[in-house]
Amino acid sequence: MMSASRIAFLTGAGISTAAGIPDFRGPRGVWTRDPEAEKTSTLSWYLRDPDVRRRAWRTRAESAIWERSPTPAHYAIASVEKAGRLQGIITQNIDGLHQEAGSDPSLVHEVHGNAREWRCEDCGETGAMAAMIARVRAGEPDPRCPECEGITRATTILFEEMLDPDVLDAATAAAERCDLIVAVGTSLFVQPVASLFPMALDAGAIGVIVNAQPTPFDDMAEVVLSGDIQDELPRFIRSLLS
Ligand code: NAD
Ligand code: ZN
Repeated sequence: MMSASRIAFLTGAGISTAAGIPDFRGPRGVWTRDPEAEKTSTLSWYLRDPDVRRRAWRTRAESAIWERSPTPAHYAIASVEKAGRLQGIITQNIDGLHQEAGSDPSLVHEVHGNAREWRCEDCGETGAMAAMIARVRAGEPDPRCPECEGITRATTILFEEMLDPDVLDAATAAAERCDLIVAVGTSLFVQPVASLFPMALDAGAIGVIVNAQPTPFDDMAEVVLSGDIQDELPRFIRSLLS
């Protein structure tokens, strides 16, 4: 494990909680506190119910991800790339903090899209998320497309939607080619991304899990670190690189 030279990371919302962005399924997660919130991530609910959209926009305005800074764990992952030992970063996160920490964007596979932009559900117009959030904060709870008055949304992938096949292919290739896969801050519940972890092990990689709560794959992992990610991951990476 210590000599691994093609390391892949599979990251989830838990790596960004220390940046002030809540996760979904952790003890203080958005869905743990209110299961109804799951509707904001489900396409049919989002399109059908204006209350769900208002809630989604309110949550986006509150989490203000483009105002957040990367955590020590994001920087630790970036240091693996600088050491020439990174295969790729597969992330379920939509916050862009890996790139912000200095990771090469071409090695960051954002399988659930990102929230840097909004898109019109009707005409496909896109624009910067920050500008749309400014409208929400100025008193438009369900802001409409400036071109066609259509429903607007983030450029993230919702439940009931297909993943981008090119991004999924790149993520799958990273999982199949790595010799060590480190899952960080993910409950490993969301498919098909979660299955990349056992896929990497089947292809010969060693598995490490860094997460406070148990995951369905803990038994398969060589090492499970269940302390705080912001302590555990930088320490683990320092020992790998030393
Ligand atoms: P999740 O909410 O299902 O799981 C997060 C896990 O991280 C939990 O098991 C929690 O116990 C653990 N965790 C949180 N903070 C931790 C810490 N400091 N130390 C140790 N463990 C910690 O997250 P997921 O698996 O990524 O799935 C949620 C979905 O929601 C993803 O699809 C993702 O796209 C999206 N999401 C993204 C963001 C983001 O971009 N930052 C935030 C919320 C949700
Ligand atoms: Zn439009």
